Formats: sequence, C-alpha cells, structure tokens
Amino acid sequence: MQSLTAALSPGAYTDVSADEAHLSIAGLTKQFGDFTALKQIDLTIQEGEFVCFLGPSGCGKTTLLRAIAGLAPQTEGTIVQRGRDVSALPPQARDFGIVFQSYALFPNLTVYDNVAYGLRNQRQDRQQIRARVDALLALVDLTGSERKYPAALSGGQQQRVALSRALATEPGLLLLDEPLSALDARVRVHLRSQIKALQQRLGVTTIMVTHDQEEALTMADRIVVMNQGGIEQVGTPAEIYQHPASEFVATFVGSMNLLDVTSESMGVWRLGHQQLECPNHVSKGISGRARLAVRPEAVTLSQRQEGLQAEVANIEFLGAFLRVHLHLEGCVQPLLADISARDAQCVELSLHQRVSVFFPDEAMRLYPAGGGAA
Ligand code: ATP
Repeated sequence: MQSLTAALSPGAYTDVSADEAHLSIAGLTKQFGDFTALKQIDLTIQEGEFVCFLGPSGCGKTTLLRAIAGLAPQTEGTIVQRGRDVSALPPQARDFGIVFQSYALFPNLTVYDNVAYGLRNQRQDRQQIRARVDALLALVDLTGSERKYPAALSGGQQQRVALSRALATEPGLLLLDEPLSALDARVRVHLRSQIKALQQRLGVTTIMVTHDQEEALTMADRIVVMNQGGIEQVGTPAEIYQHPASEFVATFVGSMNLLDVTSESMGVWRLGHQQLECPNHVSKGISGRARLAVRPEAVTLSQRQEGLQAEVANIEFLGAFLRVHLHLEGCVQPLLADISARDAQCVELSLHQRVSVFFPDEAMRLYPAGGGAA
C-alpha cells in the first residue's frame, strides 16, 4: 500500500495534517439571472475527508461542485483551498481532478494516453509518466488494458479510467459529479467500494455529488444534505440517519413515518383519537401542531391491550423482514413497521388484527408543523 502511494505521490497526500481545513467556503451564492441556485453556503471540509453532497434533483449540488472547480464561478462568496484564496481563479489554476457522470474520456486516445494526458501537459519525463500510469491502472484493476480505446471498455471500466486520469496529476482535491449514476446497479455497488477503498488508500480529499442516499450513507465520512440551494444538515451518515435536523432530512434519508400530532398537556400529545406520551427532551419546547417522525424499524408491535391501538392493513414479505402497514385508530396517516420474521411469529400477525404499537423514546423526533427544523 505504502509503495503504491509512493509511486503515485512523493508526499502529496501524506504531509498535510488531517486536522487542517482543506476547503473553506464562506457566504457562497450563485445566481442564474433572477434565480438563486445557491444561497449563502458556508462549509468547511477537512484534509482527507470524503464528503457527499446529497439532495434531490435541482437542489444545487452540481452548481456547488462546479463553483468549487471554477467551472461556474459564484456570484458572491469565497473559496479557500489549503489556505489559498481560489475564489477568482480559473479552473486550470485550481488544484483538483474531476470525474463526470458521462466518463468524458478522449475517444481517440488509448487508456494509457488518456491517463497520461495531464502528465504530458506537465512535461514530466517518459519514465516517470509510465511508472505513474502503471501504478494508477493497477490501483483500479486495469493493468493490461493500456492499449484499448474507450469504446472497447464497459461503462464501469471507463469510469475507472476516468478516475485514474483525474488522479494522475495528484490533485489535492478529487471532485466526483454523480460518477456512478450511468452504471447498472451491480457495477455501481462494486465501483462504490472500489472508489471508497482508493480514496482511503490515497487519503485524497474528495467531494462526491449524488442524489442516491444509499451511496452517500455507505461512502461518505460526512454528508452535506442540500435542499433548494441551501444546506439542511452536515453530519456523519449515522448522525444524519439517527438525528435528522429537519423534517426534510428525516424524509429524504431512509424510510420515515410522519404523523400529525397536537400537544394536549406537558408530555402528552394527541395522535388521531389516541394519546401518546412523548418526553419533554423530544418535544424541545415545540407545542401546538407538530409532526412526529419514527423510523419503521423502530416501531414495535405486541398483543398487549395498552398503548396505541392499530389495525394491520397489509403485510409485505421483504425477505429479511416484514413491512407491516398499520392503521392507527382515528389517524389518517398510515404507519409502517419493519419487523423481523421472528418477531412477526411472536406477535402472530394476521390481516385486520388489532395490535398495540410502541415507539421507544429515543426513536421519536418532533418537528414543528410546516417543515421546520427540530
Ligand atoms: P441534479 O441532481 O438534477 O443534477 P442538482 O442538485 O445538481 O440536480 P444543479 O444542477 O446544481 O442541481 O441546479 C440547481 C438549480 O440551478 C436548478 O434549478 C437548475 O435548473 C439551475 N441551473 C443550473 N445551471 C443553470 C444554468 N446554466 N442556467 C440557469 N439555471 C441553471
């Protein structure tokens, strides 16, 4: 591992402290005419981090990536990379390698020449170039494909060449713009782990744009969840999944039940025709109308006659678990419970059966009605 890194990089990724900020973005705004695509983005990315920009189509992920690259300069705000203000620099004066969704390899150049392209532009000597290209192609399991042309490669192979080409000049920052979305599911999952392993091996600071939550959860050290040109939450995958800061994040990442509730008295909420106890640390001063969020896998069912009462409306077999569709008494919103096949046997579930529903305190989150943050 060490020798591969050495062949690629005489210290490019090893002599910088992991505590240092690689990128500091402040007050970044991007206008397209009257339309504001990015609104006052503030974000710091540490040296060696793998960060995913995650959000629905049109939320501004690619615009932010392109601003960082200098391909679509911001209207306002600053970008500082390793202490250097790059805000006004053209792309060629910035320090990054980029991989696009559509591979974007030179079709008339072989795999070897595609990867060597940037190194030749830097006028490196031939032996040095050969050593670097060989090491890069070995890293992405493409040794032996040097003489092939892009058209003779599969989508996944082309994307691995694109990755090698982006890393060839040892950029400080690797930018990946939906690199996996054009590939079929099986190749995508395989390449996902290859990219992650490569990134960890080299320690190169990486930003990947994706609208695929599973991709972000499995690959990122930290996820930046974006919505309508702004940042909703920045956190580790576990933080984002377990403590979503807003109703938007709660529903965008993973499956989530959202139920309308109204406060009745201290710690007591009305849910349909029923009452639900919810500790004060969950409600955090929210009163009146609110939305209660609970993950399906956190819902437990029993035959007891206490707690919330519900009727089983449907049971779906999903292999590792059962997805139970429930109708809570007096509540219009459906409730989903994901339970293991073994737990389902204990409760002896059947259609139209009445069951008791329980939400553990730590699994409940309340958001103000109207989509605000908790
Ligand atoms: P997707 O996942 O669909 O690629 P995204 O989150 O990457 O979406 P962006 O491509 O960053 O979204 O676009 C953000 C918003 O800015 C969208 O509403 C888009 O229509 C708009 N936009 C992007 N580029 C331009 C442009 N050159 N001119 C005008 N509007 C643009």
